[in-house]
Amino acid sequence: MADFSFNKQCDFMNAIKKSVKDIIIVGGGTAGWMTAATLSQQFKESPVNITLIASSAMGTIGVGEATIPTLRRFYKKLGFTDIEVLKATNATCKLGIEFKGWSGDESAFIHPFGLFGQEVNRVPFHHYFTKLRQSGDKTPFADYSLGVQLAKNDKFIQPIIQPKNQLEIFDWALHFDAGLFAKLMRDYSINNGVKHIDSKIEQVNLNCLTEDIDCLNLENGLTISGDLFIDCSGFSALLIEKTLKTGYEDWSQYLICDTAAAVQSELVADPVPYTISHAQKAGWQWQIPLQNRTGNGIVFSREFISEDEAINSMLKNIKGKLLHEPRSFSFTPGRRKKSWNKNCIAVGLASGFLEPLESTSIALVETAIEKISSFLAEAEYSQEDADKFNYAMAQEYERVRDFIILHYKLNGRTDSPMWQHCRDLAVPQTLADKIAAFKTKGDIIKYPWEIFGKDSWLAIFDGLNFRPEFYDKSIDKFSTELLSNELTKMRNSIKNKVNNSQTHSDFLNQHCGFKERI
Ligand SMILES: Cc1cc2nc3c(=O)[nH]c(=O)nc-3n(C[C@H](O)[C@H](O)[C@H](O)COP(=O)(O)OP(=O)(O)OC[C@H]3O[C@@H](n4cnc5c(N)ncnc54)[C@H](O)[C@@H]3O)c2cc1C
Repeated sequence: MADFSFNKQCDFMNAIKKSVKDIIIVGGGTAGWMTAATLSQQFKESPVNITLIASSAMGTIGVGEATIPTLRRFYKKLGFTDIEVLKATNATCKLGIEFKGWSGDESAFIHPFGLFGQEVNRVPFHHYFTKLRQSGDKTPFADYSLGVQLAKNDKFIQPIIQPKNQLEIFDWALHFDAGLFAKLMRDYSINNGVKHIDSKIEQVNLNCLTEDIDCLNLENGLTISGDLFIDCSGFSALLIEKTLKTGYEDWSQYLICDTAAAVQSELVADPVPYTISHAQKAGWQWQIPLQNRTGNGIVFSREFISEDEAINSMLKNIKGKLLHEPRSFSFTPGRRKKSWNKNCIAVGLASGFLEPLESTSIALVETAIEKISSFLAEAEYSQEDADKFNYAMAQEYERVRDFIILHYKLNGRTDSPMWQHCRDLAVPQTLADKIAAFKTKGDIIKYPWEIFGKDSWLAIFDGLNFRPEFYDKSIDKFSTELLSNELTKMRNSIKNKVNNSQTHSDFLNQHCGFKERI
């Protein structure tokens, strides 16, 4: 007998597909043009039309210069090579992030995009390291990472395609001019047939029956209608929030920084192949080297420092001449309750924001685009797709949130009340479980949809002096002496590799003519 229960009817309704012929992207920042580029590639030979509306008079956020390696996979899918993007965006190479002062003024460690040590007999390397450390060995964890050692020595090589062992595994990302990257994406999209309208959107109209977005009224007099709207309108969240009132999950109980200020300065030295995050009295300061300038900024909590004081302290740490006045941004950490609501999908700042401590915003743009592209494979979508998208995006934001909170939770600064306050704050249960599993068992819990893998967590735990009490006792069959010899061989192999690598500046010079330009 047919089942006409309410749940079955809902399942049926959720699975109904709506076809998509006109996609409207609102916003021409990094998120808007990256979305346009991918969808224009996907629908190049199809009847789907893509229009991007943005107001050049309103501009873009104009920051967002440090990335993680996923960006390289993103542009490679579009057919760009690393060297093309490095050249087009004045980019430098990024092997990781140096965290200075997070455990006290003299402390420093690097979170690399790469592995630490070699796993043996399926026991992760950090268990061997912990056993040796507990026996009194003082060798730094960082000595087992090729990525860290290259970075510390200002060296850069491209990773080997087929590494012989885990000691050779590392990855890299870019520090780039976000405006130039958006331009690259724009040119690509327009070449693929995306229609670009430069005008302010004055009004968003809903369908009175379905309450879906129906059409947009533009300042230039045009009315633009579509089937699917992608909201890349930045912090203004014009469609997803101002119109659809989707709601925002506020995470300021976990992450207390609420303001940032950014300024560019002249380059005064060769660019280093890593981002610098330098802990300050009530926040942290970033330094991002490009080929032609340095990006600087400070992220802070207004509860603990005034904006003027934070900006002045940032300026004192900048060596090169400023290229403009500092610009400040206030924000609420968190995410949109649903990134996909009705026929509107929010991507980029419109869907949420987490401070740029681990350079994750553009990566979250990429993962959103990747999912949209796969849900729209047949140029149609259902409510079920929207639900799956919302679930996955929520998980991704939450996992990044936990990773960022970890830095604050384990900080070792004693110079101001903010840092003590961050140590005392309760953390989400998912993070509390992860910290406890590492402390008591040396395990790194892996949740679905995590952008950062085991070695990233290890880098932060170790860098902030948080060590496990336990190591896998199966390795007690190896004597301390044998382990010490084996680990020395690992370090030496990394050292040799670093000694034989070219400098970051030489790499930029060889591929981008860097030295000729400054
Ligand atoms: C201080 C700071 C530092 C950051 N650092 C990093 C970093 O190092 N790494 C990283 O990955 N990310 C970083 N981010 C995030 C990153 O900048 C953004 O994720 C990225 O630039 C995408 O922004 P967007 O395209 O969503 O928004 P925006 O760049 O703000 O673009 C919004 C677009 O919408 C248009 N628009 C808005 N309203 C209308 C309207 N009514 N009519 C027409 N057009 C409209 C605007 O004109 C603009 O084109 C940082 C962010 C901040 C605030």
